[in-house]
Amino acid sequence: MKDETIAIHGGYQSEPTTKSVAVPIYQTAAYEFDNAQHGADLFDLAVPGNIYTRLMNPTNDVLEKRLAALEGGVGALAVSSGAAAITYAVQNLAQMGDNIVSTPQLYGGTYTLFAHMLPRQGIEVRFAEDDSPQAIAKLIDSNTKAVYCESIGNPAGNIIDIEALSLVAHAQSVPLIVDNTVATPALCKPFEHGADIVVHSLTKYIGGHGTTLAGAIVDSGMFDWTADRGRFPQFNQPEASYHGVVYSEEFGAAAYIARARTVSLRNTGATLAPMNSFLIMQGLETLALRMERHCENAIAVAHYLKEHDLVDWVSYAGLNDSPFYPLAERYMKGKASSILSFGLKGGYAAGVKFYDALNLFKRLVNIGDAKSLACHPASTTHRQMSQSEQAEAGVKPEMIRLSVGIEHIDDILADLAQALDASQA
Ligand SMILES: *Cc1c(COP(=O)(O)O)cnc(C)c1O
Repeated sequence: MKDETIAIHGGYQSEPTTKSVAVPIYQTAAYEFDNAQHGADLFDLAVPGNIYTRLMNPTNDVLEKRLAALEGGVGALAVSSGAAAITYAVQNLAQMGDNIVSTPQLYGGTYTLFAHMLPRQGIEVRFAEDDSPQAIAKLIDSNTKAVYCESIGNPAGNIIDIEALSLVAHAQSVPLIVDNTVATPALCKPFEHGADIVVHSLTKYIGGHGTTLAGAIVDSGMFDWTADRGRFPQFNQPEASYHGVVYSEEFGAAAYIARARTVSLRNTGATLAPMNSFLIMQGLETLALRMERHCENAIAVAHYLKEHDLVDWVSYAGLNDSPFYPLAERYMKGKASSILSFGLKGGYAAGVKFYDALNLFKRLVNIGDAKSLACHPASTTHRQMSQSEQAEAGVKPEMIRLSVGIEHIDDILADLAQALDASQA
């Protein structure tokens, strides 16, 4: 099936008891065992079935299958937020004494996790000086367990050369994790370009309506965890916390995602509520349609701002003079999602006046809603960072980030026009 069809039908056939056409919300904590032997078999993973919703739920299972199919992976794990997905994706690979190597420009929450929290747990995060494969390669050593990047950076809008990063990671037997939140599988499929693991904040474009927090990890099944057994003992040695299972033997290509569920999710419990799973799937059904309109509106806004006298600079990879346009063409058919940033002439002060004058655009910290949204990263998402950390993360003091929605373009441009006028008042 093609993506538009998978997004609507993937992973679900009308449930046999009720023939419900919509995916049912299985609002249950636990599942009954037929008898003691059935319970034992379930715990031994000898038969398929459900035990307890912290680790598996039939509603979440449909979402997981749908996402795995859309990204072209062997399995997925849905969790309660994008932040939980990223935490688990890394913790499934790296332990105390290990390191990961990351591109410098990241979502603010991810940056804080990497720069401040993981190091306190003994996982060092090495930020490369830029996005180039050379800058990444020189930081990888025998304790490196992953290379990390965002296919389209939030908020900087930079686009990563996924294939080049995958080659330098693979040259040293290290997997590449790509946060594909901003691009979504409608625009970019990181596994087709060498990525091994994809993480998502489903809260954004996939849910698409700003109602529901959710996240997911998707496993390509392509990384060979047995090639460098010393680097990844957790997939090659008996797991003490799960009756001695050896993940690479028991789960083969799906070893990574099986361990993420049975170790990270089972023991720390950032479970996705089935109701939220349902809401995310409602959004996912129209992902392809919405992304088309998001991109169409964003390029129109980018052209409008670029030609406006009061605007100093516009950064949007969909503009064909953007330094990222060649990568947008290569990885996303020239479509760069709907996040764009710009700076007004008059710097910070004009930026604040503009921001305060917006009517249709909501002032908030979120992206990927059907509604148009605006954010001032320096005072919000990236506020906890020092000025130099902000600069490294691609955040300028005057920068306004827009997440262009799917309203009529005339209304979007009218709101920007009146706010631009007000910035000079
Ligand atoms: C929002 C976001 C996250 C975090 O996701 P939550 O669902 O808010 O926890 C991670 N990565 C990117 C690129 C995001 O935009």
